[in-house]
Amino acid sequence: MASTNAQLFARANRTIPGGVNSPVRAYQAVGDTPRFIRRASGPYVWDSEGARYIDYVGSWGPAILGHAHPEVVLAVQKAATDGLSFGAPTEAEIVLAEALSTRLPSLEQVRLVSSGTEATMSAIRLARGFTGRPKVVKFEGCYHGHADSLLVKAGSGLLTLGHPDSAGVPREFVEHTLVLGYNDLDGVRQAFARQGDRIACVIVEPIAGNMNLVRPAPGFLEGLQELCTAHGALLIFDEVMTGFRVGPQGAQGLFGIRPDLTTLGKVIGGGMPLAAFGGRCDVMGKIAPLGPVYQAGTLSGNPVAVAAGLATLRLIDEPGFHDRLAAQTQRLVAGLRKCGCLAGIPLAADGVGGMFGLYFQHHVPRSFAESTASDLGTFARFFQACLSRGIYFAPSAFEAGFVSMAHDDEVINRTLDNVGDVLQAMAHDREHGDSDGMPAAGGLR
Ligand SMILES: *Cc1c(COP(=O)(O)O)cnc(C)c1O
Repeated sequence: MASTNAQLFARANRTIPGGVNSPVRAYQAVGDTPRFIRRASGPYVWDSEGARYIDYVGSWGPAILGHAHPEVVLAVQKAATDGLSFGAPTEAEIVLAEALSTRLPSLEQVRLVSSGTEATMSAIRLARGFTGRPKVVKFEGCYHGHADSLLVKAGSGLLTLGHPDSAGVPREFVEHTLVLGYNDLDGVRQAFARQGDRIACVIVEPIAGNMNLVRPAPGFLEGLQELCTAHGALLIFDEVMTGFRVGPQGAQGLFGIRPDLTTLGKVIGGGMPLAAFGGRCDVMGKIAPLGPVYQAGTLSGNPVAVAAGLATLRLIDEPGFHDRLAAQTQRLVAGLRKCGCLAGIPLAADGVGGMFGLYFQHHVPRSFAESTASDLGTFARFFQACLSRGIYFAPSAFEAGFVSMAHDDEVINRTLDNVGDVLQAMAHDREHGDSDGMPAAGGLR
C-alpha cells in the first residue's frame, strides 16, 4: 500500500533535517502535514495518497505554463538523450542568452547559473567588483536567496547596521549590508547622503513577492534609479520571481526602468535548476575570464535545463499570453475579495500579471510592517481548510501565489466556490465563539 503523507513525513524526518530540502515545505507556519507530491500536470498536483489539488504554488513560480507542459517535457527528454552535462559551451546556451537579451533590453550580456541564490550572490559580487565599493542596500522583507551577505534583517532604527538573519552568518559578513524599508525612498536618500561613495549597489525586488505581494509605491523604483545614477552605484532588479511572470519584460518592462543588473530564475528554467544574471556590457565585462570578478559553475548552462527554459520562453511568446494570464489572476483576485466580503472576514487581495497576494487584513500592505500585521491564525485555518478541499495555496502568509496558463475559468471558479465555503464556515465558527474551530474537512462539500 502506498504511504500516507504523514508516514512519509515521519520517514523523511529520520534522514532529512525537518523532513524537507527547503524549510517552507515543512508547513511549520500552518500546522499541517506537508503533502508529498507524486506528480503534477497542468494546474494540478497529486500527493502520495492520490489526492488532487489545484496548485497556486507552481513550484514557487516556475510553472507558468502549468505543470509538465508536453512541449517542455519533450524538449527536456530530447536534450537528455544527447547528454546530461558537458561542462563545455553549447549552441543552445547562446540561444537562451540571446532569447533573454532580446526580451529584456537591459540585459546586454547575461550569464547562466543554476539557482536564484547564485544569480543574486554573483550580481552583488560583480557590483562590488565593478564599483570597488563594499556596501549593499537591500530592503526589509525582500528575499534574494540565502547568500551570507543577504541574510540580514533590519536593525533597530534607521540606518543602523543590519543583523544576521541566520545563525552561521558572522556579524562581520553583513556589516556592509544596509537594510532599509521597502517603499521608503527617504531612508534610501539618507543612506546615500551619509555614505553614497561607499555604496556599490541597491538590490530590490521590483515587485516584492517574498513578504506576500507588495507593490512598489509610485516613484519608488524611479527614485532608486536616480539615486544610484547620481552616486555611481548600480541598481540591481532581482527579477528571479517577477521575470516573465508579471509581464513579457518582467517588472522592468511594466515600470519602464532599465536597471544596471538583473537577476532571473524560476520561470526561465521552466522547472529545471536554471537562473541568470545580466545587464550592462561594461559591468558584465568585469567577470572572469574577461575581468577580475570570479564566478563559475560546474552545471551552469546545463543543456537539459537550457532546453526547458527555451521551450518555456517559446511558449510564453504566444501573442496575448501575459494578458490572458493577468486576466485569470484578476478573476481569482476579484473572487477572493468578494468571498471575504460575503463572509464578513477582512480579506484583501492583489495581483500583478501571474502573481497574487491574499492578506487577512483590511488593506493591501505597502511595507514589510504592514504585511507582517496580517492575521496569521486566520491564515493558518484558511490554508488548512482550503487544502483539505483540494486547493493548494502557499503554506505561509508571506509568500505570493502563482497562477498558470492552465488555470482556466473552470479551475478558478472551482477554487472560488471552495474558498467561499471555507470563509463562510470560518465566519460561522467565529460567530459561535469557536475561534479555533476548523471547518470540518469532509463536512462541507
Ligand atoms: C526565489 C527567489 C530567489 C532565490 O532563488 P533560488 O532559486 O531559490 O535560489 C531570489 N530572489 C527572489 C526574488 C526570489 O523570489
